[in-house]
Amino acid sequence: MTKNIAVIKGDGIGPEIVNEALKALKKVAELYNHEFNFTEVLMGGCAIDAVGTPLPEETVEICKKSDSVLLGAVGGPKWDKGEGKNRPEAGLLGIRAALGLFANLRPARLLPPLKGACHLKTEITDKGLDLLIVRELIGGAYFGDRRTFTDEKGHKTAVDEMKYSDYEVERICRVGFDLARKRRGKVTSVDKANVLDSSRLWREIAHKISAENPDIEYGDMLVDNTAMQLVRNPAQFDVIITENLFGDILSDEASMITGSLGMLPSASLGETGCGLYEPIHGSAPDIAGTDTANPIATILSAAMMLRYSFDMEAEASAIERAVDKVLEENYRTADIMSEGCILTGCKAMGDLIAERIRKD
Ligand code: NAD
Repeated sequence: MTKNIAVIKGDGIGPEIVNEALKALKKVAELYNHEFNFTEVLMGGCAIDAVGTPLPEETVEICKKSDSVLLGAVGGPKWDKGEGKNRPEAGLLGIRAALGLFANLRPARLLPPLKGACHLKTEITDKGLDLLIVRELIGGAYFGDRRTFTDEKGHKTAVDEMKYSDYEVERICRVGFDLARKRRGKVTSVDKANVLDSSRLWREIAHKISAENPDIEYGDMLVDNTAMQLVRNPAQFDVIITENLFGDILSDEASMITGSLGMLPSASLGETGCGLYEPIHGSAPDIAGTDTANPIATILSAAMMLRYSFDMEAEASAIERAVDKVLEENYRTADIMSEGCILTGCKAMGDLIAERIRKD
């Protein structure tokens, strides 16, 4: 198969970690007889430096024409003083909007060799921790009307509107149910239907989609209870579907209980197959250029690209197995280093993983 991939290396450790993910993709292409064409484009601080804007038009055009986008990270202290629309992060929000990416997928999986890095007790993690949060990404409170004003009694007051329409809930629910079918077949829809109208609509639509998917086990859960259950008994979850604000908070909670930031991938998907794949961490300017960054989150993001945008399940699993193998052999980058393990740089970690990618 031939696939065109836009590559945004970005700032800080972005170029270092993306280079390692490219090694893994090239190895997959060689083993499975695919052709991946990579086109590098600018976004973030490096784009501001080169052409004066964080998201050049050319970048948007190339990303739109590509089958998928691989992103490192953007931002850094050099560009922190810029105006809102001329900061690196504006590039990120702009590309998500330009590609219509409404579904954010964040898996949180505890890899057995990294059990020690998990913040939960072993009696909890022994039951397993392998869940996927599907967060609505372009609706709700982050995109509703907002204003700050002085009320009639002279109090400074702020309002953020949390708005959802049926079609927005329906499309994200469909993504969640489809993904659950490829996993363990269970969906938990998270809302605050005991208080919020938008959540009551959410629940109504989620039930409708559940009725259309009787093969998928389904349950509702209030968001406050979910926050508690994630640390009490995460093994009960397979796919969690939720709105933007709740998903933002719960996905950070779920990722952090597994351990290191450097291990966690993400995907953002839209109506078309084209998705944006990136690690959940930032550009880590404090360690940029030192060859100490952990490239695994980016390599696993590339695996998600193969699975979700290209329907290459075997190829995605081959990368994930190679990551597991390297960790089982006790190679560790500095952020996940523990006693008795072998300290490995970013490049060496990428090489070790690429070498271990094998065809089933
Ligand atoms: P960060 O995620 O970049 O770093 C937090 C800490 O984790 C740092 O100590 C860093 O060294 C470490 N870390 C992060 N990724 C690592 C990796 N792969 N390997 C080893 N250690 C790693 O968050 P921050 O420091 O709050 O932000 C730095 C910059 O990144 C800011 O400009 C911020 O706006 C930007 N940012 C970008 C994105 C994105 O591009 N999607 C996301 C978050 C933050």
